[in-house]
Amino acid sequence: MRASNAKFLIWILCALCLSSSLLSEFTPDDNFLIDCGSSSNNTVGDRLFLSDNNPNGKSLSSTSKVSTSSELDMFSSLFQTAKVFETTFLYNFKIKKQGRHWIRLYFYPFVSGNFSLSLAKFSVSAQNITLLKEFQIKSGSIIKEYSLNLTSSNLVLTFTPIVNSFAFINALEVVSVPDELIPLTVTGVEKVQNSLGNRALETVARVNMGNQTVLPDNDTLSRLWVADGPFLMHNDQVVVGKFVSNLTKVNMTGGLEIKAPRLVYGTATRLGADADTFVNVNVSWSFDVDPGYEYLIRYHFCDIIDLSLGSMIFNVYVNSWKVDHLDLGNVTSNIPGTPHVLDTIASPMDSSKFKISVGPTNFHEFSTAILNGVEIMKISDSRRSLDEPSFGLDSKKGSNVKVGLIAGLVAGLVVLAILATLVIVLSRRRRRSALVRHLKEEENLGVNGRECNYTVGSVAFLNSKFGYRYSLAAIQEATDNFSESLAIGVGGFGKVYKGMLRDNTEVAVKRGTSKSMQGLAEFQTEIEMLSQFRHRHLVSLIGYCDEQNEMIIIYEYMEKGTLKDHLYGSELPSLSWKQRLDICVGSARGLHYLHTGSTKAIIHRDVKTANILLDQNYMAKVADFGLSKIGPEFDKTHVSTAVKGSFGYLDPEYLTTQQLTEKSDVYSFGVVMFEVLCGRPVIDPSLPREKVNLIEWVMRRKDKDQLEAIVDARIIEQIKLESLKKYVETAEKCLAECGMDRPTMGNVLWNLECALQLQGDEKSRHGKESSSQADLSNHWEASVSTTQFSTGSAVDIASMSMSKVFAQMVRDDMR
Ligand code: ATP
Repeated sequence: MRASNAKFLIWILCALCLSSSLLSEFTPDDNFLIDCGSSSNNTVGDRLFLSDNNPNGKSLSSTSKVSTSSELDMFSSLFQTAKVFETTFLYNFKIKKQGRHWIRLYFYPFVSGNFSLSLAKFSVSAQNITLLKEFQIKSGSIIKEYSLNLTSSNLVLTFTPIVNSFAFINALEVVSVPDELIPLTVTGVEKVQNSLGNRALETVARVNMGNQTVLPDNDTLSRLWVADGPFLMHNDQVVVGKFVSNLTKVNMTGGLEIKAPRLVYGTATRLGADADTFVNVNVSWSFDVDPGYEYLIRYHFCDIIDLSLGSMIFNVYVNSWKVDHLDLGNVTSNIPGTPHVLDTIASPMDSSKFKISVGPTNFHEFSTAILNGVEIMKISDSRRSLDEPSFGLDSKKGSNVKVGLIAGLVAGLVVLAILATLVIVLSRRRRRSALVRHLKEEENLGVNGRECNYTVGSVAFLNSKFGYRYSLAAIQEATDNFSESLAIGVGGFGKVYKGMLRDNTEVAVKRGTSKSMQGLAEFQTEIEMLSQFRHRHLVSLIGYCDEQNEMIIIYEYMEKGTLKDHLYGSELPSLSWKQRLDICVGSARGLHYLHTGSTKAIIHRDVKTANILLDQNYMAKVADFGLSKIGPEFDKTHVSTAVKGSFGYLDPEYLTTQQLTEKSDVYSFGVVMFEVLCGRPVIDPSLPREKVNLIEWVMRRKDKDQLEAIVDARIIEQIKLESLKKYVETAEKCLAECGMDRPTMGNVLWNLECALQLQGDEKSRHGKESSSQADLSNHWEASVSTTQFSTGSAVDIASMSMSKVFAQMVRDDMR
């Protein structure tokens, strides 16, 4: 037996065991299953189709053997008979529970005597929605599936033959659908909320990745999931997808069987032609769709593969739109094998194909991508139809009057489109030329013109960041038209408002007021950077708006505001030492990711306490990427650029040489660390002259062994000596004169984690060790004199416990 056959058998066995034992049942309130034209009931799988007792219409039976595709084989007994109508005919159903229902129509155009069903041509409608328009099926068999939100206690299904023709149907279903299956609203690829409440849907594709068909018997909603193999696209003759299965890894929690059965989540197609090679291309599937309609696309994911190397962070696309940047472990709360469903709405525009893809991100070299299932559902349009020809695409079907009307409309639309395009092109050209002018000015400041090359590239985002674009109307709605009562801050770029999107997501909306070129360049850089990565310690971009000359950026809302506001100058309660350490660790993690998360480092250039934001749990996230830069090329040590950043945080080496490296961020982070420890601003002109500059003051105290004087009085009693020592030593190394002598952010992170471990759970040093500030200062002076407090010092009073700390960290990392 070949290995692939053996694997298939194992899959079948697992499938049979798991499906029978674990399929959670949904019992529909309405469950009409009719075998049309049949005089007896018919069992298909575990469902009973009742005979069609309707005396109207003509009942026919096939005189030859039914021949269907293998997937529809189980329904062949239903295809054996049909009901035929020569005039309009109604099927009437009493509905017990309003809400979404499946309507499934079975068609197989058999021949009975000298009567051929392939000649039938007819329309079908339900609840005033056209499901099929002048439909004709010449050969083969098909099950058309719709889901309609039924709003009355009666459903009438109407079959209308065209003149001189007739209608037929082999079997039909009207079955309740659980409420949670189709959400009321879904965000589309253009980040606009779409309401689905009263829209009808038609299933265009329902595919199980991993190339295994899942039959209706194995799905609590009796859905058929076809194998994905025939839809997989080739890349230079090579299929980059690899079929995988691991049913036992799937961890279904309540209600998820509704979205898709375990058998769908237990198989997948992953990126990689061979077992564990990571291929730098997308894996894609192609589906035929009707242009002119919008589609609900549902992606099913489940992390069923055990990766020895790499992670599950990847991009999800439909055609050229990036739907999401998915960190599968993160979205499923790191519970392995938990399914995740992603919905979006897209329109194929003028194409008749949807290309669904998953693929690696720029920032995660060792990441693979996976897809377990996909569903594509056509959404009824404003004409309440699911089967109307698109404007201008199929004029043959309509009458002359209709053609004329359509032509008029098309002409109007074309004129409108031309006008809109002109406006967009002109305004973009104005911005672009302004930006190019600005870049030329920058080039004069910078060296070698490298700055210019990079930034010109970022102009393209106006086209490529399509998926993040919001309409001005959506933002006005979210912020109550930029109501002053929702203003939460103001920065160099403009005002910041708290807002609420339609899906109840709280957001921070930054509205640029500066019409300067600087403002525009920062706006573009921020979006360019933030749209490329997602990390729990980097503030997430939700979208942007550049309509009507606006420059608006929408971020995730950070409830506790800036770190700066929690350190000084506000009435907010003081942060404990443990909280401060956690915040430093979090922000160091974010910066470390920026510096090392992709082949080229990203240099933030404006690290400061005002750019570290805190969420409701005081988790830190680095914000404000308007000044950030892509780091040096492989063979270069630095980027030459005009000096930018914030006063007090600027790396002196960068200031004098204009040569930027990641170590400039490390310097600024050292300043942040002292600001956190001392609880005072970096520059405070209100203080006596020798104290105005925090760093100069700290260094002077250090030289006089008086560091106790710098620690924020509100936390001094909480700090454990070893923890403090590790912290100060690390911060001081960050401030080394020369970038080469500074640690990397990874190193800083490691040392901060040590400081956190050394602090332990204990909140204060009361008790055995010491109870007074004076005691702390004595200990402190003693240890400082031992370590000499030098940047290169290897002596560490905490070193004895380091192996323990290290072992703990390694365990933590492996979790
Ligand atoms: P500058 O732009 O000059 O560097 P800044 O960083 O303080 O100054 P902004 O980033 O525009 O300015 O932020 C202004 C204020 O808006 C912040 O101080 C903060 O209170 C609030 N803010 C900004 N972003 C968010 C967010 N994502 N969530 C909650 N509040 C925010």
